[in-house]
Amino acid sequence: MARYRDAVCRLCRREGAKLFLKGDRCYKPSCPIEKRGTQPPGQHGNSMRRGKALAGYGQQLREKQKVKRIYFILEGQFRNYFERARKFKGITGVALLAFLERRLDNAVYRSGFSTSRRQARQLVNHGHVLVNDRKVDIPSFQVKPGDVISIKEGSRKNVHVEGAWQTAAGRGRPAWISASGGDMTATISALPTREDIDRSINEQLIVELYSK
Ligand code: SF4
Repeated sequence: MARYRDAVCRLCRREGAKLFLKGDRCYKPSCPIEKRGTQPPGQHGNSMRRGKALAGYGQQLREKQKVKRIYFILEGQFRNYFERARKFKGITGVALLAFLERRLDNAVYRSGFSTSRRQARQLVNHGHVLVNDRKVDIPSFQVKPGDVISIKEGSRKNVHVEGAWQTAAGRGRPAWISASGGDMTATISALPTREDIDRSINEQLIVELYSK
């Protein structure tokens, strides 16, 4: 995964929306979007570019960039998901989002083991995550109904994991994941539907972009 050198908050400001890339801070008043609004980064952020509303290709491109940034994936991977979604029976845009949502790093985040997808990816990469009691260290692994996600015994007491789990209990989890507090496990109870996924995303714009 390529690393962004700039503060990740700049990515939110660039997209003009909260992408929830920084864990707990995203839910606090200290979030730069809460403090300063959606002014784009840079000295001339407000005076340039944003003066005109995006349309057509520009709008489609920005939507794709936004979704790539939300799920923290690169262009090549994103394109592969799109090709898979295109071959899938059903609505391509929804299938694309469902593939992204079913990534193990996303499922770890959505289950409440981390406060951001980046943190979830680290947990997976470093071998802290189990699926059906077996270590899986591939962030792109696709979870399916019936899978049980947990954190390796020795890592459960990690202050970040414990804190995230408690916070998620208050914030709520998506309908396709059911959590069990006692043994700190999350079960994939269904496939994610469009209603479970960020409503601010306009996936049709991405389909139009790649269909040119
Ligand atoms: Fe985006 Fe979170 Fe930074 Fe707010 S705190 S700008 S939501 S990454």
